[in-house]
Amino acid sequence: MTALFFQQDGGKKQDDQDKIQSVDSESFELYAPNEHEYKIAKKCLDYVVKKFQKYFGEKPPKIAVRIFSSPQEMAKYDFTPYRKKKIIFLPWMSSEYFEDVMFESSYPAVEIGAMLAKNPKSGKIYVVQMVSGDVGTSLEQGDIINSLNGKAVKSMKQFRQDYEKIAPQSEIQLKIMRNGKQQVLSIIKSNPDALDDTQARVKENIITRISKTKDGLSHEAGHMFFIAYVDQKRGRSVLDKDNTMPNATGHYGHYLIPDWFDEMAATLLEYPSLQVERRAQMKGLTDKKISFEQFFSMKHPSFNSKENDMLTHIFYAEALTLAEFLIENDEPVLIKKIADKLIHGKKFEIEDFLKEIKSVPSDLEELEEKWGKWVSELETQKDM
Ligand SMILES: [Zn+2]
Repeated sequence: MTALFFQQDGGKKQDDQDKIQSVDSESFELYAPNEHEYKIAKKCLDYVVKKFQKYFGEKPPKIAVRIFSSPQEMAKYDFTPYRKKKIIFLPWMSSEYFEDVMFESSYPAVEIGAMLAKNPKSGKIYVVQMVSGDVGTSLEQGDIINSLNGKAVKSMKQFRQDYEKIAPQSEIQLKIMRNGKQQVLSIIKSNPDALDDTQARVKENIITRISKTKDGLSHEAGHMFFIAYVDQKRGRSVLDKDNTMPNATGHYGHYLIPDWFDEMAATLLEYPSLQVERRAQMKGLTDKKISFEQFFSMKHPSFNSKENDMLTHIFYAEALTLAEFLIENDEPVLIKKIADKLIHGKKFEIEDFLKEIKSVPSDLEELEEKWGKWVSELETQKDM
């Protein structure tokens, strides 16, 4: 998830210390723009720390988490002191930002069947993604919305406000640009109080999507705690080298650890809201699983093109369910054992490692078959 949230360089530090709520605990320093955001983030980090203890048998080393109210604020923040002090840091957007921005851009989607957003470079409002084929829209992904009923569209907020003023059942004219050509589309505004089944489903999806994006803090914090753990065990910081964050090295986690394990750790430590979906995804896939031979040797699929979005989801889902399968056959701190071998072992062979766990096959094909059967009978709701 979200390399977006690591802005490498900022300008001058412009903290207004009075407005910031912070805590310096054993495992994290947290800074948030207000008490509401502080509480949400602290609850999340406390949860991840608790889970980390379960799988690693100890508290994670300290990281720093900073919550920002806007991407602009994050961009101008200077992270140099963290790099100098060798503290792994995680910048994250506020809950309010996710709600405002995502809801703002999602709200009309329920009725027009398309999610809109502002292109930060051109300032134009465009269709990011179609949300449903059967809402009955003539919009297409990539369309730029120039005007709504003759009025130029300048921001998502303005679009939303103007859209809300239009009476249900009336015709809406959208002047759009598609493939460099102007077109006028007309759609009928439906009654927002009487959503049909499809619209209700789309709305549900949008709400779920927003809450999952917010919960992503747990996943990213999991990565950071694990990076800090690896550094503590090897006695050297990733920040020693080039003053860069690990993700700048083409990895999502620690650059010395294979991607499959970084995602195992991060998905195990994340909020159950995310895990439930991953288990359900894995269970639903019958012939699209990644073979274990490929899984243990591949690069993180999210570094490839966007077309591989689905592959990325499978990669996460497979990492989580395989970790849970192994733990169920052994014990939670099996994760720590694998981690410690990866940190210290020059040559790590998963099959050699599996030989030490008597209850699972060390042959990858056999393991894959057993795990596949286990997944097909998986209870997706459980909190392991
Ligand atoms: Zn991840």
